Amino acid sequence: MTIPPYDPKLIHPLFPRFCPCQDCSYYLDLDNYITLDGTYPVKNALQRRQRLYCHAGEHRFSETAYSPLFGHHGSFKEYVQTAKMSSYGLSTNQIADVLERDRRTILEWQKALGYKCKRFHLALCSLIGLTLMSIQMDEIWSYLKKKKRQLWLFITIESKTKFWVNFELGSRTSHTAHRLLKNLVSLMPWGFEHFLLVTTDKLAAYEKAIANCFEKVRYAYLQIVKKRRKRRLVTVKQRIIKGQETDFLNKTKNTSYIERFNLTLRQKVSYLQRKTLGYCKNQKNFQQILWINLFDYNYRQPHKSLRHDLTGETQKFKRRYQHLTPAMKMGLTSTQLEWQDLILAPIPENAHEFSTSTVL
Ligand SMILES: [Zn+2]
Repeated sequence: MTIPPYDPKLIHPLFPRFCPCQDCSYYLDLDNYITLDGTYPVKNALQRRQRLYCHAGEHRFSETAYSPLFGHHGSFKEYVQTAKMSSYGLSTNQIADVLERDRRTILEWQKALGYKCKRFHLALCSLIGLTLMSIQMDEIWSYLKKKKRQLWLFITIESKTKFWVNFELGSRTSHTAHRLLKNLVSLMPWGFEHFLLVTTDKLAAYEKAIANCFEKVRYAYLQIVKKRRKRRLVTVKQRIIKGQETDFLNKTKNTSYIERFNLTLRQKVSYLQRKTLGYCKNQKNFQQILWINLFDYNYRQPHKSLRHDLTGETQKFKRRYQHLTPAMKMGLTSTQLEWQDLILAPIPENAHEFSTSTVL
């Protein structure tokens, strides 16, 4: 089989197109040759859709077959609008009202979108490989069902690239911290040779979970212990659990990046807005919304503090800086992605699973 030339429309050369038609005998077969085969117009959409050709199975299919929303009876524009509104903090009811659709339809779309975001993120992180230098972990709380239960969201971000690595929902116990770290280790099969700096707050759950899960990882661990009196911050102390003080550079001796990130997230996820009625009624839906926000934050929106100096490369009257998304800084993508790119990205269902098992 000849190797097809790299198609610049693809997210990454590691993700070649495959045949997504279940009734084709070459379904998901990566040893296949898929080529572009013209475009076709669609009702209610300005852009034409790409048609593709499966050489092994000798049939044509549409690029929308890669989309989890295939056959969900909405227009492409509506899917993109749902994704955007979900990442601007609108609730499912509000989105249903704007799009004049049933609430259950929006829930279905969010589920499909969230699922694709998860698949996309896991596949990219594990196939291309994350290089984590220093991570910060923290947890924020919300309510679940009639405010009777507290629900905690545990988050990891990489402090240099501001990349949102992963998250976990659950109670504020070592179980949830354990799940978060196990998940993190599975995302970095090649990352073990680097020295990792870990910063968290003083929650004891992390200490146990980190010691358990980071057996193969070389790391240093710093806790930031904050004391508050009457809601005012009195002292901030640093406590080194593993490693030496010289391991930590000045800018990594804090949890400020993740605390700033928490603020962004509270703004963008209606379930996390405090003192409002927007708390979570359904944990599964919460998870989907978080995955949608993860894609928006990591791959779509350029980060204000990440920029690439262009002055050396261009002449007068050109842009001085290029703003980067956290994923670009991390080296996972070369451009800012759009919702379209996510929906149409050819990513097989279990991409991240077979990648880690074959590499290790
Ligand atoms: Zn086929």
